[in-house]
Amino acid sequence: GLADIGVVGLAVMGSNLARNLARNGYTVAVHNRTPGRTRELLAAHGDEGAFVACATVPDLVASLARPRTVLVMVKAGDATDAVVEELARHLEPGDIVVDGGNAHFLDTARRERDLAARGLHLVGAGISGGEEGALTGPSIMPGGSEEAYATLGPMLERISAHVDGVPCCTHIGPDGAGHYVKMVHNGIEYADMQLIAEAYDVLRQGLGLSAPEIGEVVAGWSTGDLDSYLVEITAQVLAHVDAETGRPFVDVVADAAEQKGTGRWTVQSALDLGVPVTGIAEATFARALSGSAPQRAAAREAGLAARTAGWDVPDTPEGRAAFVEDVRRALYASKVVAYSQGFDQLAAASAEHGWDIDRGACARIWRGGCIIRARFLDRITQAYERDPELELLIADPVFAAAVGDGVASWRRVVAQATLNGVPVPAFAASLAYYDGVRAASLPASLIQAQRDLFGAHTYRRTDRPGVFHTEWSGDRSETRVDA
Ligand code: NDP
Repeated sequence: GLADIGVVGLAVMGSNLARNLARNGYTVAVHNRTPGRTRELLAAHGDEGAFVACATVPDLVASLARPRTVLVMVKAGDATDAVVEELARHLEPGDIVVDGGNAHFLDTARRERDLAARGLHLVGAGISGGEEGALTGPSIMPGGSEEAYATLGPMLERISAHVDGVPCCTHIGPDGAGHYVKMVHNGIEYADMQLIAEAYDVLRQGLGLSAPEIGEVVAGWSTGDLDSYLVEITAQVLAHVDAETGRPFVDVVADAAEQKGTGRWTVQSALDLGVPVTGIAEATFARALSGSAPQRAAAREAGLAARTAGWDVPDTPEGRAAFVEDVRRALYASKVVAYSQGFDQLAAASAEHGWDIDRGACARIWRGGCIIRARFLDRITQAYERDPELELLIADPVFAAAVGDGVASWRRVVAQATLNGVPVPAFAASLAYYDGVRAASLPASLIQAQRDLFGAHTYRRTDRPGVFHTEWSGDRSETRVDA
């Protein structure tokens, strides 16, 4: 019989997705530019299901049932363009090409337009969960047309992770919507990781706890609000001892964080949309700072003064336990704000591109399979079910109460860290955002006045409608300029 789906690109992601499809009963045609990878897959895992090894793209196309569906899992960028183009030359109208790589959403939109003009569907599908998730069930964020999803959706939903029997895969929206949501997922992941790292640093430098001691504290967090994959792996990492030196593993890992670019893309897009994603931005910049070796060396050599005021935490078992609890609450409050900002960005991008993204559904498909998977995402889905047009996640009564409960702890942690010179950019930026967004008035009034003085940029008044300008260099009379 003909194959149900083809997979092109059999590196770790492609071969594991092909195996996942085959294990779920689909007949999978597989192809890789270098034939060795195809042979290796068949030799090692050919008995897991029905594979059809294809030496060439035309062979692959010929082996597929109509409408043909091909999942492309090659290096993002030029390689994806080359493979999509070769497929398009051999496919027929109505066939579906799925790009499961980490494409930029604008590239996906371009490829979709290009294929649509030739009667083909391109589906940009964000896939999260890494190597392991690809095999056992990832979180899948497909964009593209409704028509393509009708064929493709059931297969992707079947191989995705499931939580409470619900697949972690849903049709996100047209063209680049799927890759956009995956991008913001990764941005939120950056923020979540940075916040956990700051909590660790505060406990370490503030209370002088060792890595394994903090590992125990973090393991305890898994039973409450913070229960998540990232918290779970943090506890594992902190408990790990380097075999060579016998030291805590985190103490022998170089402190320069790398990135592959999705956090940066998230922040770039947020800047274009004018959405303040301060948690994600600070997390991205914190990675950049950690990797700025010459600047860090220059600062150390210059002996930049700390002049800290010191910790103001009682050095008693009770005082220390209370501070640990403060850190836990600060982490949760900051996390809620970072997620709230990310969901704001999704709303703004959805409005900008006409994608009609269901934010509650995004939270639902992130509950399993992906890196930010957590029970807490249920609460986000419920918030958007209560109010699909919710302006601000932290204005939802449940989250407003949760953040409100933690706010005193949050202030103490940011204050103590600041007094002692421990950098907590994501904690502090999230708190500043919280205070900014809830403020009855902001000093933006002064900014507007300054702008009117130096550039005649005009301003609005609090007491009556209209747009005004003051003659700053003249008699300082005010004129209404919109009448
Ligand atoms: P890589 O990103 O390392 O890509 C390697 C694959 O791309 C190989 O199959 C390679 O073929 C193929 N390839 C590269 N250039 C070309 C070309 N010009 N023509 C045809 N094939 C080409 O593989 P991964 O499995 O790590 O990732 C695949 C995609 O999934 C990427 O877009 C990645 O960003 C994304 N992704 C990765 C995740 C991960 O955890 N690794 C998670 C989620 C998404 P050959 O063997 O012939 O060199």
